[in-house]
Amino acid sequence: MSDVSFLDWPFFDDGHREFAGAMDAWAAENLAHVSHADVDATCRDLVQRLGAGGWLAAAVADDAATLDVRRICLAREILARHSGLADFAFAMQGLGTASVALFGPAALRTRILPQARAGTRIAAFALSEPDAGSDVAAMTTTAVRVPGGWRIDGVKTWISNGGIADHYVVFARSGEAPGAKGLSAFFVEADTPGLTIADRIETIAPHPLATLRFEKCVVPDDCLLGVPGEGFKVAMTTLDIFRPSVGAAALGFARRALDEALHRATTRKMFGGVLADLQLTQAKLAEMALDVDSSALLVYRAAWAHDVQRRRITKEAAMAKLHATEAAQRVIDAAVQMFGGLGVASGNIVESLYRDVRALRIYEGASEVQKLIIARQMLVPR
Ligand SMILES: Cc1cc2nc3c(=O)[nH]c(=O)nc-3n(C[C@H](O)[C@H](O)[C@H](O)COP(=O)(O)OP(=O)(O)OC[C@H]3O[C@@H](n4cnc5c(N)ncnc54)[C@H](O)[C@@H]3O)c2cc1C
Repeated sequence: MSDVSFLDWPFFDDGHREFAGAMDAWAAENLAHVSHADVDATCRDLVQRLGAGGWLAAAVADDAATLDVRRICLAREILARHSGLADFAFAMQGLGTASVALFGPAALRTRILPQARAGTRIAAFALSEPDAGSDVAAMTTTAVRVPGGWRIDGVKTWISNGGIADHYVVFARSGEAPGAKGLSAFFVEADTPGLTIADRIETIAPHPLATLRFEKCVVPDDCLLGVPGEGFKVAMTTLDIFRPSVGAAALGFARRALDEALHRATTRKMFGGVLADLQLTQAKLAEMALDVDSSALLVYRAAWAHDVQRRRITKEAAMAKLHATEAAQRVIDAAVQMFGGLGVASGNIVESLYRDVRALRIYEGASEVQKLIIARQMLVPR
């Protein structure tokens, strides 16, 4: 049983506490046996089931006023504790719709957000390119005005849900100014002519992931999100909201690893007692608990500041993501160590957590990028 005493912290209200209890009960009942044999089929099924259960309402907001980042973070922490793929399926519905909810035209919002919330439309967010990952402003995918719309040409890679998504939020260079000031954001239906899946990507913790190619891919004017030239703002506003939630997912993985380590340490017989009798083990458990609680404090501080103080949380979001993902890696590594040989045996829960957590220190801004964001926020106060 996980420690849920953090729910008593003043960051939450009773609605959050009820939500967390209900979601944990649903996850325990529905996510005990998530298959990894065919991740496309599993993720489609998870999106559908999360939608049918009403849980995607927490991920897919209508607009800025209805965004509840604390609820998104609670959901991700709980889902990650039960199943990495379920967390992934939930998170992508939010990441792939927030730019529409915050910047899209009303007709588009009315058409697609209810479908994403119901789990009948799978969403994706396409920012990265082969030569523009951390350096977003180096993006070379172009968007050129044509009569009635925009023509998109270029390549996007590392796109989660690539291959199974029904739409992609795509960022491209529209050229109003050099660098980050000349980008725009677009909503692109997956079946738009000129958009193809160029390649599928396998990773150590498999989920649907692809490289997309855009060749003379024309989208209508009303697919523009925000105004031309402000695509970077659309992307960063969306990432500010979801970065604490990456920390929350890491926290869920870490909490699960700590639970598993506690169980193992108190049941594994050795040296005439159990592993937990040894003081080196106790020291490690204390460090793990400290990492978990400090991550939770930073994650929910960032989410609370967004929801309650109603302000940009660039620094707090970066701190939450940086600390929680790095800390989760330490906690999970310590759990693997406590399990001994079993810790690296395929199919063991801590072995899969070890693979699940790794990419979180890289995507949505690598740890080094988060450090720069935090420093710049202090050096240039806003
Ligand atoms: C599993 C997974 C899912 C993803 N899903 C998506 C998605 O859905 N949509 C999307 O658009 N992208 C997605 N990405 C892409 C992800 O955001 C990029 O991988 C990330 O931004 C890093 O870009 P890169 O891989 O090109 O690495 P690079 O930009 O080449 O960076 C390599 C490394 O350089 C280091 N580094 C970066 N900046 C600095 C610096 N200033 N100083 C020192 N060191 C630095 C970091 O350690 C970084 O990991 C995903 C990636 C992965 C692995």
